Amino acid sequence: MSAIPTSDRLVLVVEDEPQVMRLLATGLPLQGFRVVEARTGQEALRQAAAWVPDLVLLDLGLPDRDGLHVLADLRAWSQAPVIVLSARGAEGAKVAALDAGADDYVTKPFGFPELLARMRVALRHAARAGPATPAGVFESGALQVDLDARRVRVDGEIVKLTPIEYRLLAVLVRHAGKVVTHRQLLAEVWGPKSADERQYLRVYMTHLRRKLERGRTGPPVFETEAGVGYRLVWDGA
Ligand code: CA
Repeated sequence: MSAIPTSDRLVLVVEDEPQVMRLLATGLPLQGFRVVEARTGQEALRQAAAWVPDLVLLDLGLPDRDGLHVLADLRAWSQAPVIVLSARGAEGAKVAALDAGADDYVTKPFGFPELLARMRVALRHAARAGPATPAGVFESGALQVDLDARRVRVDGEIVKLTPIEYRLLAVLVRHAGKVVTHRQLLAEVWGPKSADERQYLRVYMTHLRRKLERGRTGPPVFETEAGVGYRLVWDGA
Protein backbone atom coordinates (compact mmCIF):
# COMPACT_ATOMS: atom_id res chain seq x y z
CA MET A 1 0.00 0.00 0.00
CA SER A 2 1.47 3.34 -0.98
CA ALA A 3 1.56 6.23 1.44
CA ILE A 4 -0.93 9.02 0.88
CA PRO A 5 0.58 12.41 -0.02
CA THR A 6 -1.16 14.07 2.91
CA SER A 7 1.68 13.86 5.38
CA ASP A 8 1.22 15.39 8.79
CA ARG A 9 -2.51 15.75 8.47
CA LEU A 10 -3.92 15.72 11.96
CA VAL A 11 -6.72 13.26 12.61
CA LEU A 12 -8.85 13.27 15.74
CA VAL A 13 -10.00 9.72 16.45
CA VAL A 14 -13.06 9.57 18.70
CA GLU A 15 -13.63 5.96 19.67
CA ASP A 16 -14.20 4.12 22.94
CA GLU A 17 -13.55 0.58 21.67
CA PRO A 18 -9.90 -0.20 22.52
CA GLN A 19 -9.39 -2.56 19.56
CA VAL A 20 -10.59 -0.05 16.99
CA MET A 21 -8.63 2.74 18.65
CA ARG A 22 -5.48 0.62 18.62
CA LEU A 23 -5.92 -0.21 14.92
CA LEU A 24 -6.32 3.47 14.01
CA ALA A 25 -3.69 4.85 16.40
CA THR A 26 -1.06 2.51 14.97
CA GLY A 27 -2.25 2.30 11.35
CA LEU A 28 -2.81 5.97 10.55
CA PRO A 29 0.70 7.20 11.47
CA LEU A 30 2.11 4.62 9.04
CA GLN A 31 0.11 6.42 6.34
CA GLY A 32 1.54 9.80 7.28
CA PHE A 33 -1.20 11.03 9.60
CA ARG A 34 -0.76 12.40 13.09
CA VAL A 35 -3.35 11.09 15.52
CA VAL A 36 -5.02 12.68 18.52
CA GLU A 37 -7.19 10.34 20.59
CA ALA A 38 -10.46 10.81 22.44
CA ARG A 39 -12.57 8.15 24.14
CA THR A 40 -15.58 10.19 25.19
CA GLY A 41 -17.70 12.92 23.65
CA GLN A 42 -16.46 15.48 26.14
CA GLU A 43 -12.85 14.61 25.47
CA ALA A 44 -13.55 14.80 21.73
CA LEU A 45 -14.78 18.38 21.92
CA ARG A 46 -11.89 19.37 24.19
CA GLN A 47 -9.31 17.80 21.86
CA ALA A 48 -10.94 19.27 18.77
CA ALA A 49 -10.74 22.77 20.27
CA ALA A 50 -7.16 22.26 21.43
CA TRP A 51 -5.76 20.69 18.26
CA VAL A 52 -8.02 21.90 15.41
CA PRO A 53 -7.77 18.61 13.48
CA ASP A 54 -7.84 18.35 9.67
CA LEU A 55 -10.25 15.45 9.88
CA VAL A 56 -12.33 13.72 12.56
CA LEU A 57 -13.20 10.03 12.79
CA LEU A 58 -16.24 9.85 15.03
CA ASP A 59 -17.77 6.77 16.60
CA LEU A 60 -21.50 7.36 17.17
CA GLY A 61 -21.79 5.10 20.22
CA LEU A 62 -19.81 6.89 22.92
CA PRO A 63 -20.07 6.21 26.66
CA ASP A 64 -21.04 9.71 27.76
CA ARG A 65 -22.82 11.39 24.86
CA ASP A 66 -24.57 10.53 21.62
CA GLY A 67 -22.07 10.95 18.80
CA LEU A 68 -24.71 12.96 16.92
CA HIS A 69 -24.66 15.60 19.66
CA VAL A 70 -20.88 15.70 19.55
CA LEU A 71 -21.15 16.21 15.80
CA ALA A 72 -23.64 19.06 16.20
CA ASP A 73 -21.41 20.80 18.77
CA LEU A 74 -18.40 20.36 16.53
CA ARG A 75 -20.23 21.68 13.48
CA ALA A 76 -21.13 24.85 15.37
CA TRP A 77 -17.57 26.06 14.85
CA SER A 78 -15.58 23.56 12.77
CA GLN A 79 -15.76 22.72 9.08
CA ALA A 80 -13.23 19.88 9.38
CA PRO A 81 -14.47 16.81 7.52
CA VAL A 82 -16.08 14.24 9.82
CA ILE A 83 -16.29 10.56 8.94
CA VAL A 84 -18.63 8.60 11.15
CA LEU A 85 -17.77 5.08 12.29
CA SER A 86 -21.09 3.33 12.63
CA ALA A 87 -22.51 -0.08 13.32
CA ARG A 88 -23.85 -2.35 10.63
CA GLY A 89 -27.55 -1.88 10.04
CA ALA A 90 -27.69 1.53 11.68
CA GLU A 91 -28.94 3.22 8.49
CA GLY A 92 -31.11 5.70 10.40
CA ALA A 93 -28.14 6.85 12.44
CA LYS A 94 -26.00 7.18 9.31
CA VAL A 95 -28.60 9.35 7.58
CA ALA A 96 -29.02 11.46 10.73
CA ALA A 97 -25.24 11.94 10.92
CA LEU A 98 -25.01 12.95 7.26
CA ASP A 99 -27.93 15.36 7.71
CA ALA A 100 -26.17 16.79 10.78
CA GLY A 101 -23.08 17.60 8.74
CA ALA A 102 -20.98 14.44 8.65
CA ASP A 103 -19.12 14.05 5.36
CA ASP A 104 -19.27 10.30 5.11
CA TYR A 105 -19.31 7.09 7.10
CA VAL A 106 -17.77 3.66 7.21
CA THR A 107 -19.56 0.67 8.62
CA LYS A 108 -17.87 -1.41 11.32
CA PRO A 109 -16.07 -3.70 10.94
CA PHE A 110 -14.40 -1.70 8.18
CA GLY A 111 -11.34 -2.47 6.10
CA PHE A 112 -8.44 -0.08 6.58
CA PRO A 113 -8.07 0.58 2.81
CA GLU A 114 -11.75 1.52 2.63
CA LEU A 115 -11.35 3.94 5.51
CA LEU A 116 -8.26 5.51 3.90
CA ALA A 117 -10.14 5.94 0.63
CA ARG A 118 -12.99 7.73 2.44
CA MET A 119 -10.51 9.94 4.29
CA ARG A 120 -8.72 10.82 1.08
CA VAL A 121 -11.97 11.85 -0.59
CA ALA A 122 -13.07 13.91 2.41
CA LEU A 123 -9.73 15.73 2.61
CA ARG A 124 -9.77 16.38 -1.13
CA HIS A 125 -13.23 17.93 -0.91
CA ALA A 126 -12.18 20.00 2.10
CA ALA A 127 -9.13 21.30 0.22
CA ARG A 128 -11.25 22.88 -2.53
CA ALA A 129 -11.20 26.61 -2.00
CA GLY A 130 -14.51 28.18 -1.08
CA PRO A 131 -17.90 26.79 -2.02
CA ALA A 132 -17.39 24.13 -4.67
CA THR A 133 -18.36 25.66 -8.00
CA PRO A 134 -18.65 22.84 -10.47
CA ALA A 135 -16.50 23.73 -13.41
CA GLY A 136 -14.13 21.97 -15.72
CA VAL A 137 -14.06 18.34 -16.63
CA PHE A 138 -14.65 15.53 -14.18
CA GLU A 139 -13.22 12.12 -15.00
CA SER A 140 -13.45 8.79 -13.27
CA GLY A 141 -13.01 5.44 -14.96
CA ALA A 142 -14.81 5.46 -18.31
CA LEU A 143 -16.98 8.45 -17.29
CA GLN A 144 -16.18 12.00 -18.37
CA VAL A 145 -18.43 14.93 -17.47
CA ASP A 146 -17.73 18.37 -18.94
CA LEU A 147 -19.48 20.61 -16.45
CA ASP A 148 -19.13 23.78 -18.52
CA ALA A 149 -20.48 22.27 -21.73
CA ARG A 150 -22.88 19.95 -19.84
CA ARG A 151 -21.56 17.10 -21.97
CA VAL A 152 -21.26 13.52 -20.74
CA ARG A 153 -19.10 10.85 -22.31
CA VAL A 154 -18.57 7.17 -21.54
CA ASP A 155 -15.56 5.54 -23.16
CA GLY A 156 -15.26 8.69 -25.28
CA GLU A 157 -18.79 8.44 -26.68
CA ILE A 158 -21.34 11.14 -25.97
CA VAL A 159 -24.27 10.01 -23.84
CA LYS A 160 -27.53 11.95 -24.14
CA LEU A 161 -29.16 12.66 -20.79
CA THR A 162 -32.46 14.33 -19.99
CA PRO A 163 -32.21 17.59 -17.98
CA ILE A 164 -33.17 15.80 -14.76
CA GLU A 165 -30.73 12.95 -15.33
CA TYR A 166 -28.00 15.52 -15.94
CA ARG A 167 -28.84 17.44 -12.77
CA LEU A 168 -28.78 14.23 -10.78
CA LEU A 169 -25.39 13.34 -12.21
CA ALA A 170 -24.05 16.86 -11.60
CA VAL A 171 -24.97 16.68 -7.90
CA LEU A 172 -23.22 13.32 -7.57
CA VAL A 173 -20.18 14.68 -9.40
CA ARG A 174 -20.03 17.66 -7.05
CA HIS A 175 -19.88 15.20 -4.15
CA ALA A 176 -17.77 12.64 -6.04
CA GLY A 177 -16.62 9.76 -3.89
CA LYS A 178 -18.93 10.76 -1.02
CA VAL A 179 -22.33 9.35 -0.22
CA VAL A 180 -25.24 11.67 -1.04
CA THR A 181 -28.46 10.94 0.84
CA HIS A 182 -31.80 10.35 -0.91
CA ARG A 183 -33.16 13.48 0.74
CA GLN A 184 -30.26 15.61 -0.42
CA LEU A 185 -30.49 14.37 -4.02
CA LEU A 186 -34.24 14.90 -4.13
CA ALA A 187 -33.97 18.39 -2.65
CA GLU A 188 -31.20 19.47 -5.00
CA VAL A 189 -32.72 18.03 -8.17
CA TRP A 190 -36.48 18.38 -7.65
CA GLY A 191 -36.60 21.02 -4.90
CA PRO A 192 -37.01 20.94 -1.12
CA LYS A 193 -40.67 19.93 -1.25
CA SER A 194 -39.80 16.67 -2.98
CA ALA A 195 -37.51 15.35 -0.28
CA ASP A 196 -39.70 12.34 0.45
CA GLU A 197 -40.44 11.26 -3.12
CA ARG A 198 -38.07 8.32 -3.11
CA GLN A 199 -39.69 6.58 -6.07
CA TYR A 200 -38.73 9.47 -8.43
CA LEU A 201 -35.17 9.03 -7.43
CA ARG A 202 -35.12 5.28 -7.82
CA VAL A 203 -36.60 5.51 -11.33
CA TYR A 204 -34.19 8.21 -12.50
CA MET A 205 -31.17 6.54 -10.95
CA THR A 206 -32.07 3.36 -12.82
CA HIS A 207 -32.25 5.29 -16.11
CA LEU A 208 -29.03 7.12 -15.42
CA ARG A 209 -27.21 3.96 -14.45
CA ARG A 210 -28.41 2.17 -17.57
CA LYS A 211 -27.20 5.01 -19.80
CA LEU A 212 -23.82 5.37 -18.11
CA GLU A 213 -22.96 1.74 -17.54
CA ARG A 214 -24.34 0.63 -20.94
CA GLY A 215 -23.98 -3.03 -20.17
CA ARG A 216 -20.24 -2.64 -19.61
CA THR A 217 -18.65 -5.17 -17.32
CA GLY A 218 -16.25 -2.69 -15.70
CA PRO A 219 -16.58 -1.21 -12.23
CA PRO A 220 -19.92 0.49 -11.48
CA VAL A 221 -20.36 4.23 -11.98
CA PHE A 222 -22.48 4.49 -8.81
CA GLU A 223 -22.66 2.55 -5.61
CA THR A 224 -26.04 2.14 -3.97
CA GLU A 225 -25.80 2.67 -0.21
CA ALA A 226 -28.85 0.75 0.95
CA GLY A 227 -31.22 2.86 3.05
CA VAL A 228 -28.94 5.90 2.79
CA GLY A 229 -28.28 7.12 -0.74
CA TYR A 230 -25.88 6.90 -3.67
CA ARG A 231 -22.17 7.40 -4.18
CA LEU A 232 -20.44 8.26 -7.45
CA VAL A 233 -17.30 6.16 -7.63
CA TRP A 234 -14.27 8.43 -7.85
CA ASP A 235 -10.87 6.97 -8.65
CA GLY A 236 -9.03 10.13 -9.64
CA ALA A 237 -6.99 12.71 -7.78
CA1 CA B 1 -18.54 2.76 20.65
